[in-house]
Amino acid sequence: QTVVNRIAAGEVIQRPSNALKELIENSLDAGSTQIQILVKDGGLKVLQIQDDGHGIRKEDMTIVCERFTTSKLNSFSDLTSISTHGFRGEALASISHVAHVTITTKTADSPCAYRALYADGKLVPVKPGQSADPKACAGNNGTQITAEDLFFNTPTRLKALKSTSDEYNRILDIVTRYAIHNAGVSFTCRKQGAKMADVQTSKGASIVDNIKQLYGSVASELLHVQETLDTLNVKVNGYISNANYSMKRMTMLLFINHRSVDSYAIKRAIESVYSTLLPKGGYPFVYLDLEIDPKNVDVNVHPTKKEVHFLNQDKIIESLIDMFEETLKNAND
Ligand code: ADP
Ligand code: MG
Repeated sequence: QTVVNRIAAGEVIQRPSNALKELIENSLDAGSTQIQILVKDGGLKVLQIQDDGHGIRKEDMTIVCERFTTSKLNSFSDLTSISTHGFRGEALASISHVAHVTITTKTADSPCAYRALYADGKLVPVKPGQSADPKACAGNNGTQITAEDLFFNTPTRLKALKSTSDEYNRILDIVTRYAIHNAGVSFTCRKQGAKMADVQTSKGASIVDNIKQLYGSVASELLHVQETLDTLNVKVNGYISNANYSMKRMTMLLFINHRSVDSYAIKRAIESVYSTLLPKGGYPFVYLDLEIDPKNVDVNVHPTKKEVHFLNQDKIIESLIDMFEETLKNAND
C-alpha cells in the first residue's frame, strides 16, 4: 500500500516546484494576503511556506494529509471546477508520501496554534513513543507548512533531478508567476540563510507594479489587452510588450482560471504575431489571464501536466491573435 501510494505521489509531485505550486494555491485558497517561502538546496532539503490565511482547525489536522481529503467541494456544482485546480485533495497527501511534513497552523478563533508531523498521509509523533496528536504551541493566525528531505524515500526520483540551482530557478519561476498574477497578496521567496529575498512583491501593488518589480523596464512599455468574448464565454486580461521592446527569450505568463498553465498552441500563435514585428532574436513579454467557464477546460488535466486544453481552443486563439494585432498596431500608429 505504502509503495503504491509513493509511486502515485511521485507522479503528482515530480520536483520541488510542483509541490510548491500546490502549496501556494492552498495558501491563496485560504484567503492569504501574505505568503513567505523559504528554500534550502533547491527545495530538496527544505521547502517552507508561511501564510496568514484562515488556518486549519485542530480537528481537521488529523486528516488533511489523507488522500482525497478536501474542504473545497461543498456542492455538486463545485465538481465542475475540479478542472481548474488539478486533482482534488491529493497535494498534501502526495507531499507527505515523499517528504517529512510539518504543519503549524492557527485559526482566528483558536487561542493557540497547533503543530503536527506527517508521514505517508498520517500523523506521526515528534519522538518515538510520544502521541502523534497535534501539539499546542505559540503561533500567528495562518499556516506554515514545511516539507523536508523531499524524495528521501524515492532515490530514482531524486537522481532524475538536475541540480539544486536548477530546481531553485524553477521555484523562482513559479513564485514569480503567482506573485505577478495575485496583485494584493505580498510574496517573498528566499534561500535559507540569505538576508535578501529573490522575489518580493508588496500588498498594495498592481499587476503592472509587480511586473516592474520582477522584470524591470519592460513594465514601462506594456500594452493592456482586455476583452470579454461573449459568444465564447471567455474573459481576457493581459499586459503585453510593445513591438519596440524585445526580451532575450519568450516570456509568457499564462493563467487560466487563476492557475499557471502552459499552452503550446497559444504560445505559438502569439509568437507568430510578434515574429514580423520584432527584430531577429528578439522576443515578446506576455502576461495573459484567461477566465474560461470551468466546464470547458479539460477535466483530465493532471497536476504535473501544465499543458492545458480547452473547448473552442481555435476560436479563442483566433480572437487572441486579432486582439494582439490590433493592440500592437494602434500603439505604433
Ligand atoms: P485541496 O486543495 O484540493 O483541497 P490539498 O491536499 O491541497 O487538497 O489540501 C487539503 C486540505 O488541507 C485543503 O482542502 C484545506 O482544507 C487544507 N489546507 C491545505 N493547505 C492549507 C492552508 N495553507 N491554509 C488552510 N487550509 C489548508
Ligand atoms: Mg490544494
